[in-house]
Amino acid sequence: MVEMSLHFSQTERDLAAGGVLTIDLAALRHNYSVITQRIAPTRAAAVVKANAYGLGASRVAPAFYEAGCRDFFVAHLGEAIALKPHLNPDATIYVLNGLQPGSEAACARENLLPVLNSLEQIENWARLARTIGSKLPALLQIDTGMARLGLSAKELDRIIDEPSLLDGIDIKFVISHLASGDEPENPANAAQLATLTAALARLPKLPVAFSNSGGCFLEKTYYFDLARPGVALYGVGPAPRHDFENPIRPVLTLSARVIQVRDVDEGAAIGYGGTFIAPRPMRIATIAVGYADGWFRSLSNKGCAFFGDTRLPVVGRVSMDSITLDVTALPEDTLKLGSLVELIGPHQRLEDVARDCDTIPYEILTALGDRYARIYVDRSTADRQS
Ligand SMILES: *Cc1c(COP(=O)(O)O)cnc(C)c1O
Repeated sequence: MVEMSLHFSQTERDLAAGGVLTIDLAALRHNYSVITQRIAPTRAAAVVKANAYGLGASRVAPAFYEAGCRDFFVAHLGEAIALKPHLNPDATIYVLNGLQPGSEAACARENLLPVLNSLEQIENWARLARTIGSKLPALLQIDTGMARLGLSAKELDRIIDEPSLLDGIDIKFVISHLASGDEPENPANAAQLATLTAALARLPKLPVAFSNSGGCFLEKTYYFDLARPGVALYGVGPAPRHDFENPIRPVLTLSARVIQVRDVDEGAAIGYGGTFIAPRPMRIATIAVGYADGWFRSLSNKGCAFFGDTRLPVVGRVSMDSITLDVTALPEDTLKLGSLVELIGPHQRLEDVARDCDTIPYEILTALGDRYARIYVDRSTADRQS
């Protein structure tokens, strides 16, 4: 969010932004709890990488902590260091991407746990353990069919042939990651599970962390000891299925300010490149959100906003800081300078916006940017981040 000095009131802050992003901490806790109940006795971590999927890790992670979460996954060491002051010392923070050579000492000093994804990362962590003369905790990742991060089959053979490679490393969990956990019917899931099970049989008995959000909605055999849900915590539940109701609650709403309303004649060209020509006299409202706010340019002449139940189609290109809407369907003078229209909320879900952009909700969330006025609500009480 744009930094503003303290003498601005909350209302002034609100009005100084192009839109208002409201994040419901109670919904975050609810989603954590329903996942925990579903997978019990498996524990649930919270994946809070990329600033908690764009929603603000410093506010979101403590909400999960309050709901009972003690395990937090980020992608980078820098994210872990930034998050640490916002959590009690009994929380553990894990670094999914592992460590760059030379950053091992900083990670150990901060009591953060790296995921060791390669023989090189194992070697570097073991070397530091030897240097300081005590064991160092870490997670060990095994690739089971994604070819992204983790030990390959060959590398796994290597550490099984030469267990001393792991000397000095206290492995807290063996982890792996599902490539298609969100597709319950995809046979790749069972294949990954079988590969993981075979690998575990060759290693000393260790706790296992496997499932992402998708995995938490597969069968029990995918749960093991610790799950790593991310997107479901942020309100994106499993695709509709016949066997259960989606227990996940939406977490955010996004509204944008009207900055101008005008009537245009038939034939008027709207926006950059004149890609929309008014087919009849129309009323156009310009709102103060654009692609710099994560409202992708691919939504040009596509998608919509809502005012009450009225759908307001996007006409013309999405600009960096604004979008033009066809508001002809609304009675004149309904929208004025300062009115708010809904971009994400009860009429248009995050999933709908992602579909209109040919992308996934993850990309919309993490692109929201920091120009909105962010309001963190907790059922009835509201407070905000300044
Ligand atoms: C991002 C990520 C997760 C969380 O995935 P979701 O699909 O958001 O639940 C879990 N594990 C790893 C290794 C990840 O990279």
